[in-house]
Amino acid sequence: MSKVLVIGAGGVGSVAVHKMAMNADIFSDITLASRRKFKCDEIASSVKKRTGITVKTAELDAMDVGATVALIKETGAVLLVNLALPYQDLVLMDACLDAGINYMDTANYEPPEEAKFEYHWQWAYHERFKKAGLTAILGSGFDPGVTSVYATWLRKHKLETIRQIDVLDCNGGDNGKAFATNFNPEINIREVTAPARHWEKKKGEAGDWIESPAMTTKVAFDFPAVGEKNMYLMYHEELESMKTHFPEIERARFWMTFGDAYINHVTVLQNIGMTSIKPIMHNGQEIIPLQFLTSVLPDPSDLGELTKGKTCIGDIATGMKDGIEKTYYIYNICDHEECYAEVGSQAVAYTTGVPAMIGAAQILKGNWAKAGVWNTEQLDPDDYMDMLNKQGLPWEVHELDGPVSF
Ligand code: NDP
Repeated sequence: MSKVLVIGAGGVGSVAVHKMAMNADIFSDITLASRRKFKCDEIASSVKKRTGITVKTAELDAMDVGATVALIKETGAVLLVNLALPYQDLVLMDACLDAGINYMDTANYEPPEEAKFEYHWQWAYHERFKKAGLTAILGSGFDPGVTSVYATWLRKHKLETIRQIDVLDCNGGDNGKAFATNFNPEINIREVTAPARHWEKKKGEAGDWIESPAMTTKVAFDFPAVGEKNMYLMYHEELESMKTHFPEIERARFWMTFGDAYINHVTVLQNIGMTSIKPIMHNGQEIIPLQFLTSVLPDPSDLGELTKGKTCIGDIATGMKDGIEKTYYIYNICDHEECYAEVGSQAVAYTTGVPAMIGAAQILKGNWAKAGVWNTEQLDPDDYMDMLNKQGLPWEVHELDGPVSF
């Protein structure tokens, strides 16, 4: 029975809070705080209608550490779940240290003025959390999050080492909009327009990142329950944490599917400067083109009702077991309409919000209550994997004939 403070009343925050309320034996008291209180109130009212549970709400600018510490003390929370934006990660970690509570998020820190996400800023907090006897879990969404837990589970139960890993993220859903992102548009567009990077290392060598221009490496892949889709090589944060924590990895890559219409829109927007994060003057006022673009794009949390189809996200990993090389594909299939019926959100928010709830539960149940800053692949996967099956994200694992051919 534990009190939790969730920050961020967006698509992901909404799913996580609904699922926490459905697990009231673990989350005895939930407060949802965000920049605009009315968004928290809308979510609280949906939770009340669906579960009968009361969620407390509050207005908070998470950049204000003093205000966050005061809210933590007022609520008596023992865990802060950060489902706002990556820009808030460090200030919220500071607030948790000040108030003496645990921390969890779903996306790693990136500085607002530079589209660059790396773990070193958050890993630098390890000694402070360790000394304070507090836990910080980084990246418990689906990717990152479940994709790393999958790898750890494979490494615990099916393989002894992982030589190569490919994370495959497919959204086979359609929302009927000409162009819309499935999660926060600003963060999504910063991610997809960044150069692609993957990890390669020859045995005995230090290894390096191999960079290529964004959206230039394309492979057609036949996804279970979705069918054939084009997926593109991208950089994603779990590549950094997995190659660090599983140092035997010789190649780690991340792939995401995009339809031709999405690629065409992003290309045009990029060519005309609308995805830039450099401030410009407009009518005597300084604006950031990408933030202006975000304000005219559909709000992903409004897409739930419109989205049909399925997502399929998973890992293909090759490694050794008892002297024999083996390859496994482990994945989840999630249906947009089923998610909407259960919690009023589409599957991209659902596949992030459910693992956020499960990661928080691991801390509160004591399974992941280890002092320091941790990524999900560093922690025991078994109860998390069990909860995925019971909480709406069942997984399947299949042995493949051999390593991927692409
Ligand atoms: P949204 O933009 O829908 O929601 C973010 C929420 O945070 C909004 O309600 C926003 O308030 C609030 N917020 C922003 N800044 C502040 C602030 N300074 N103080 C308080 N509240 C603030 O985003 P999503 O729900 O789509 O995504 C949430 C997080 O999940 C992001 O970090 C995203 O990168 C991550 N994510 C992770 C995935 C994974 O698999 N690991 C996948 C998808 C997303 P307002 O409504 O007023 O703007």
